[in-house]
Amino acid sequence: MTLVGEILAIGDELIHGALLDTNSKFLAGELERIGVVVHRFSVTSDDPAHLRSAIADACARADVVVATGGLGPTLDDRTRDVVAEVLAGPLWFDAESWQQVQHWLCSRGRPVPASNRRQAMFPPNAKPIANPVGSAPAFSVRIGRALLFALPGVPREMQVLLRSDVLPAIAALPGLQPMAQVWLRVLGPSEAALGERIESYMVPGRNPAVGITASGGLLTIRIVGTAATAALAATACEATAAELRSLVGEWMFAEGTVELPDLVLQRLRAAGRTLAIAESCTGGLIAARLTEVAGSSDVLMGGVVAYSNASKQALLGVSAELLAAHGAVSEPVAAAMAAGARSRLVADVGIATTGIAGPAGGTPQKPVGTVCCAIATLEGTRAWTVKIPDLGRQFIRDRAVFEIWRALLAR
Ligand code: AMP
Ligand code: MG
Repeated sequence: MTLVGEILAIGDELIHGALLDTNSKFLAGELERIGVVVHRFSVTSDDPAHLRSAIADACARADVVVATGGLGPTLDDRTRDVVAEVLAGPLWFDAESWQQVQHWLCSRGRPVPASNRRQAMFPPNAKPIANPVGSAPAFSVRIGRALLFALPGVPREMQVLLRSDVLPAIAALPGLQPMAQVWLRVLGPSEAALGERIESYMVPGRNPAVGITASGGLLTIRIVGTAATAALAATACEATAAELRSLVGEWMFAEGTVELPDLVLQRLRAAGRTLAIAESCTGGLIAARLTEVAGSSDVLMGGVVAYSNASKQALLGVSAELLAAHGAVSEPVAAAMAAGARSRLVADVGIATTGIAGPAGGTPQKPVGTVCCAIATLEGTRAWTVKIPDLGRQFIRDRAVFEIWRALLAR
């Protein structure tokens, strides 16, 4: 058995729906990577009573608790006070931490209000953790069976302190089982069909554990194993991966954490081909996803968001006759857009989307969710239509983008 972890996100803004708790997601990934098995996330308000029970409960269940938030200088930042209450002892003042807080504020040319002194107060037996990227020092402290780490809520500060202090401290704890992971990425089958094919591996308690995650039309088989050493864990995961690779066969398209836009760029680059984009209903999403990838400029020549008929004509050379005869959402227009992007932006491959993302604009022949896509190459142009379920505008647009990744990878 390895160490059990819990994550606690603290802040009124989180429970009021004003801010998404992204810290917990990040923390979970990092903790799992070093072998902590995370059993639970909690999100709590700054209310002292709620905070007290959240901290006490998490520390009673887990070996390691990582909390974020509530370390600021104001009275609504109460993590340090509440931890002191849970430990039934007074806060103590750490002169060295106070020096660091003052130094941080002075170095930014900011005043040093007396209220900041609170940030140099720590619960009994706490070990201060200096914060080189912000004013709030963090701390660790033992509460019953658990080692609690209280980190700032600001994501960047939390991430820096996690890597510099928290992960090394956890890695040195007795009882932590080294772990390894292998991710197999799958494109094509439904989650259920994939699940059936690898059913015999998805049994509770198996080590390495095998699970399927679905996200954005893509499936990931995660193989996670623990063993006495990291090398043994890796060998066990690789043995399971080898069996699954042959079972999954033609559905597998990549390994590891690679994202579809990366993969599309890698494939095009390897084939020595460049890409141009013509987007209507996706409004630049395809170009945005591709340009998020550093180094995409050697493959992506450019993209056009051609929303109106006039812009499809002016920017992509789609003819007025074609638009009048078939409508903007049609395979012939998608084909002309892809061919226009390819020739006008001087690329080897042109792709296009034109569709009805809703909520208005659907007809019985072309309901909301009808998206026409096309791909143009030297060999010719192919257009096709997908009927995406009407689960909202965002869903339809995301699925249309996914359809383009699928088409580019299938070639
Ligand atoms: P705090 O340390 O509680 O004063 O938090 C400072 C700021 O960090 C908040 O105002 C949020 O903008 C951000 N923050 C706090 N907690 C989280 C969280 N769980 N996920 C993402 N951002 C957060
Ligand atoms: Mg707060």
